Amino acid sequence: MQVSKTKLDVIAEEIKGCTACPLASGRTNTVPGSGNPDARVVFFGEGPGAEEDQQGLPFVGRAGKLLTNIIASINLTREDVYIMNAVKCRPPGNRKPLPEEIESCRHFFQEQLEVIKPEVIVALGATAIEALCGRGLGITKRRGKLEKYQNIPVLPTFHPAYLLRNPLAKSDAWSDLQIAKKLLEEKCSIESQSQAQTTP
Ligand code: URA
Repeated sequence: MQVSKTKLDVIAEEIKGCTACPLASGRTNTVPGSGNPDARVVFFGEGPGAEEDQQGLPFVGRAGKLLTNIIASINLTREDVYIMNAVKCRPPGNRKPLPEEIESCRHFFQEQLEVIKPEVIVALGATAIEALCGRGLGITKRRGKLEKYQNIPVLPTFHPAYLLRNPLAKSDAWSDLQIAKKLLEEKCSIESQSQAQTTP
């Protein structure tokens, strides 16, 4: 825990000093991410909004409250998981981050994911899944089917802000999350089986 936390703190300090893209000039705070440095699940969003920029924390606005409920739907809390975004500074007017802004930030989220080593990443919305796994079908077609980032399973689902605008899609998001839950349960049972085999 302590080793991962320290490594994430070092990355957060680097993010704080970053001026690699124009988003740096408009920020109040950088938003590196928050949560459990040894999380089994990472929730991966797009980029900070106004409230996140003010507080330096991810998903603290209205969409963040819904994300807390999404996390609870798989019997976890925000303290159990790690929450981060593709870009660490707020895009002006809450627009989507540009591809070149995501490229500037890529090494930061890559390093964070290398430290945390999650067992599954939940990609929240089209920008998130494209940042992790490349372009593909729209999120409506892509959601609920596992993809890979390096060797880590990635589950695309709707962004909470989309769900606030389209509450009928919540049931799809909830059923997507059950895929992540099942994956974690399977990993637990494989690990306890192999422990039982090696314990004399
Ligand atoms: N939307 C995101 O994608 N990330 C945040 O941190 C907040 C809103």
